[in-house]
Amino acid sequence: MENSPVDPVRYAAVMKQTRFRRKLFFFTIISYIPALFIINKISPTHSAMGTFFVLWLVALIVATTLAALCRCPRCGNYFHLHGMTFLPLRKCLHCQLHINGSEKEKGHS
Ligand SMILES: [Zn+2]
Repeated sequence: MENSPVDPVRYAAVMKQTRFRRKLFFFTIISYIPALFIINKISPTHSAMGTFFVLWLVALIVATTLAALCRCPRCGNYFHLHGMTFLPLRKCLHCQLHINGSEKEKGHS
């Protein structure tokens, strides 16, 4: 099948960027509790907690936006967005392309 207009170098770069943005997104979520404990040790005040929460929320919004705006290199749709639904699954929500899939794996299973 030679119907792909995407060159393999760009394809790999897009997939790498998508994987990185996914990691960033999950890391931001997971880091919340440990970071909360660290802030609590350093400065257990309401204002410190409030500041941390606002900063974390901003980081989460940025990470979510970056992850949501990843384009699938195969079908050109948003990898993690289907309509207004954000689903950070391991497959493209439109063409089922796996996050670790390469251009050569073009099976329609
Ligand atoms: Zn796709």
